[in-house]
Amino acid sequence: MHTAPDSGQVGSTLPIIGVLALQGGFEAHEKSLHTIGCATRRVRSPADLQGLAGLVLPGGESSTMLKLIGWNDLWEPLDAFVRAGNPVLATCAGLILAASGVTHPAQKSFGWLDIDVARNGWGRQNESFEAMDDAQRLRCVFIRAPRITRVGSAVEVIATFGGEAIAVRSGNLIGASFHPELAEEAGLHRALFAPEVLAAGAPLLHPTPGRSANVPAKI
Ligand code: GLN
Repeated sequence: MHTAPDSGQVGSTLPIIGVLALQGGFEAHEKSLHTIGCATRRVRSPADLQGLAGLVLPGGESSTMLKLIGWNDLWEPLDAFVRAGNPVLATCAGLILAASGVTHPAQKSFGWLDIDVARNGWGRQNESFEAMDDAQRLRCVFIRAPRITRVGSAVEVIATFGGEAIAVRSGNLIGASFHPELAEEAGLHRALFAPEVLAAGAPLLHPTPGRSANVPAKI
């Protein structure tokens, strides 16, 4: 089986970050990744994971993604890729896939992040809104966003809105309930995938509690 073609020039030594491209908002993530100096590859089959330096799970419809992950035999390869300690950014529907518990309604998830989420928890009536996080560092676009309803003790909260966790980190994995790819700054992409961050090596999946976030002061 052939892997999908990579963006960027042939023979380039840019790190290649995979973007799960079964459904949803993968194109804006590709743009953010190109902005910070990465090449990208659309991940649609197990072979597409080979040689990647990291992975993005985009927003979209998590129940549809789950079906497509099953149909494309991606469940175990994705699980192995993340548990191997590779850097991963999971946004919105991606966060729902990464969580250990999902409600409204309950559905299957990978359980990489020790958090619970309520699907569409930021409101159906006001399905989409934009706001700054409490620290005024991240512009956050919420689109039928999941609400983080529990944060495990080893999970670090890296951004809040109205006092509630909206972005979390556990070792190599950052999860956000909003869409960082729709803000120009690409701060969360940079925190995981900037070439100098990748060169420093991926942290372990389960860090010791209290480990400080690797988010630049100015995002
Ligand atoms: N509401 C969607 C879900 O439950 C997530 C929304 C999004 O990714 N923008 O999967």
